[in-house]
Amino acid sequence: MSNNQYPEFVPVESNWNPDTVTVQAGRPSKVVGAPMNTPIALSSTYVHTTDLGYGRDGNLSWGALEEALGQLDGGIATTFSSGLSAATAIADLIPPGGTMVVPTSAYYGVKNIFARLESHERLTVRLIDGDNTDATIAALEGADAVWMESISNPTLVVSDIPVIVKAAKKRNILTIVDSTFATPLRQRPLDFGADIVLQSVTKFLGGHSDLLLGAVICKSNPHAQFMIKHRHDFGAIPGALDAYLALRGLRTLAVRLDRSESNALELAKRLKNHPKIKKVNYPALPDDSQQEKAKRVLPNGCGGMLSFEIDTTPERTDQILESLKVITHATSLGGVESLIERRTRYEAEREAGVPMTLCRFSVGIENVEDLWSDLESAISKVLD
Ligand SMILES: *Cc1c(COP(=O)(O)O)cnc(C)c1O
Repeated sequence: MSNNQYPEFVPVESNWNPDTVTVQAGRPSKVVGAPMNTPIALSSTYVHTTDLGYGRDGNLSWGALEEALGQLDGGIATTFSSGLSAATAIADLIPPGGTMVVPTSAYYGVKNIFARLESHERLTVRLIDGDNTDATIAALEGADAVWMESISNPTLVVSDIPVIVKAAKKRNILTIVDSTFATPLRQRPLDFGADIVLQSVTKFLGGHSDLLLGAVICKSNPHAQFMIKHRHDFGAIPGALDAYLALRGLRTLAVRLDRSESNALELAKRLKNHPKIKKVNYPALPDDSQQEKAKRVLPNGCGGMLSFEIDTTPERTDQILESLKVITHATSLGGVESLIERRTRYEAEREAGVPMTLCRFSVGIENVEDLWSDLESAISKVLD
């Protein structure tokens, strides 16, 4: 669904599969002579008088991307300059003095937003263990909203979205899911009754580590209008070029994700049998603690992220990551290239209790044998 500012996109048929939608949605309607792609709309102002007056009101390139993202998650999408500016807009939905339930394992930038608002006495944060559904539901009493992050960063916890949403609805509590790791091709929280989805488009949706962009996908029109107004009033707008590139990246999401995912599953299995690896987190592994939830919440696969602990010191773990040649020692995730980092290099992750040698691995689309020999030889070079 688009936000109605841009009626001219090709209509998406309800029987199309999501991989077809990623390729087709947000293109100009197919009239004679129409271009294949929605152009990069570089303009800060518009001739009077339409809904688009100034550059903060809207932009055709955002509109094309929003049309595709809205169709994919089954709601109305509003894009922002980054995932965190999108999260900031969502936080503003909480009434003054309200209470927000947040998992301790939420993305640290998201927790920062809530901690800051709490320090300004704008709202109260109730931290819970996102892996513990009963504790999450118990914390809903008297709250205004619940934040879920599924699959979570960096320990790959799956939230029991259908169960938590049902309990929240009973209490009239707003439900929000950061669905960045799963992407709309693996998890559609709005179908489980959630109100709002956050996507860091920076990651798998853009897919090429060349832009930052965020999106909020709302089930209800009033929430979507709130997001559009928030973006207008606070000014966290995406660039037109970034929006164009994000949609260009989205066109190949289905094939990129299939490849990342099959690489991730194969590497997770091999890491699990490696004598120097203590623990592997990947929800699609048969004996992973998240398997039962994953089967219900992400029946089509668990994407391209995994994490593992090496049986050594943090210093040696860093040496291993620095010895890699194919996989890049860098932060972020979701690009075609494999990236890895030890998360406790950040104080916030140490404080959150993340294990000291836990490596978060964004598995790219390279040849799986090259990725495996890169990992194996870096581990044996440092530890043998
Ligand atoms: C990266 C990320 C964000 C923040 O998005 P930015 O685009 O970096 O601002 C939020 N949640 C998750 C799960 C992320 O991976």
